[in-house]
Amino acid sequence: MPGDSDYDARRTVWNAMVDRRPAAIAVCTSTLDVVHAVRAARAEGLPVSVRGGGHSVSGQALCEGGLTIDLSGMRRVTVHASRGVVEAQGGCRLADLDRATAAHGLAVPSGTVSETGLGGLALGGGTGWLTRSFGLTCDNFEVCEVVLADGRVVEASPTERADLFWALRGGGGNFGVVTRFRLRAHRFGPGILVAAALYRPEEASEALAAYASLAPGLPRTIGWHASLKKRLPPYPFVPADRVGRPGLLLIAMWLGDADDRAAAQLRRLTRVGRPAARECLVLPFADGVQQLMDAEFPDGRRYYTKQAHLRELDEGAIGEIVRFWTEMPMCGEIVLLGLGGALRDVPESDSAFSHRGCPWWLEFLLHWQDPRWDAPYARQARETVGRLGPCVAPGTYLNMRNADEAADVRALTEAYGGPEKYARLRLVKSRYDPGNDFRSNWNIPPADSGPGLGNRRSEQPAG
Ligand code: FAD
Repeated sequence: MPGDSDYDARRTVWNAMVDRRPAAIAVCTSTLDVVHAVRAARAEGLPVSVRGGGHSVSGQALCEGGLTIDLSGMRRVTVHASRGVVEAQGGCRLADLDRATAAHGLAVPSGTVSETGLGGLALGGGTGWLTRSFGLTCDNFEVCEVVLADGRVVEASPTERADLFWALRGGGGNFGVVTRFRLRAHRFGPGILVAAALYRPEEASEALAAYASLAPGLPRTIGWHASLKKRLPPYPFVPADRVGRPGLLLIAMWLGDADDRAAAQLRRLTRVGRPAARECLVLPFADGVQQLMDAEFPDGRRYYTKQAHLRELDEGAIGEIVRFWTEMPMCGEIVLLGLGGALRDVPESDSAFSHRGCPWWLEFLLHWQDPRWDAPYARQARETVGRLGPCVAPGTYLNMRNADEAADVRALTEAYGGPEKYARLRLVKSRYDPGNDFRSNWNIPPADSGPGLGNRRSEQPAG
């Protein structure tokens, strides 16, 4: 509680722009603790937020004046290797999951920064290096144990409370506190074959045009992404004289058992355009590639993310992206992800996660230290996406949405798959959280509570 010696540390999240003061923080170590916390909040009439890894850029882990249910004491992972399943508690970080599964030669597809929380990432979808082969994190759910708003502990799976299971796969933290995930794990590692090509800014447009034409035709065993870095990090495939300078990286990864043919295919991808350097090497997966980006996005900077789905990546869009990158005054990167593969195996109606057919994701991951730059820098990123015009497709990735997008109910409805899917989510919400107790998230108001924003119980503390 305020005044306790660790209160300030406990209310600090990844993004330094977030400064909220919960009335109390319940540091839970068991499902029963979570039940008590949920019931206590209801008895006291306090708003609730759930803290997984604290990496939501809009700070949804914390609620001003309410009760924050902190799951950081719930990070146990149990691997059942012979069955290929993993039980992970709701407060796990991605590193917890990777470490436990790697010991058995297994992996669960998740995200790309190891301190991110499994809870927030998986409930919103969960994309990462393995997505094209093994799907989203939420596509690998088998069972979720959930503490509901009335304190009941239930399980959701394809055969039990299938409506809740459907909603948990992409509907975020709207339906209760997930205290345990049972996830499918896949045979993978310990190494991953990686091929990287590095381009100077003046060669970037040409390389991106080649990337845009080749990426859609690749087999699902190859993940290939483009990363326009303001300052190249000391990655194993970045020459020492390029570190700290701007550069475009096209990074291809082989997402299956690698052989000579795989290496030849990846090597071919490093020959597009005019690279300044290229490299093909095997890196450790769990304690290598999965932690490669950690140092670039440490806690405590002022972060802004902007994500857009793109229907195409044409010359005009590439020009706008490269222009922003070469002129940007802040730190960070712009990423282009060619998705598809296993992501498209799941029919659109089978989970709350939407827009599976979208070919390209564009992500701005920007940061700076001085609060005076918050508004103008965020505006620059927003305006750049605005200039992409018809290349921008409907929907956004909920997990990358920002506080400045909170008031746009139409965009939120679209992110949840459009009016029909949103209405279905609202029905599930009214079954499992009719009072909208869980609303520090990309909130789905219960079906019978009015249109959305403006109704007291559906207000967006995140905004
Ligand atoms: P928190 O801020 O703790 O929680 C966010 C939301 O999730 C809250 O609404 C909370 O209520 C809910 N929540 C969390 N845990 C639970 C639970 N157990 N039960 C119920 N609700 C819960 N996303 C990707 O898909 N792929 C990536 O590669 C990726 N990389 C990222 C890298 C960085 C540096 C950052 C900051 C984010 C990244 N993201 C990525 C986005 C990430 O998925 C979201 O920020 C996500 O919300 C983080 O989850 P968290 O548990 O850390 O967040």
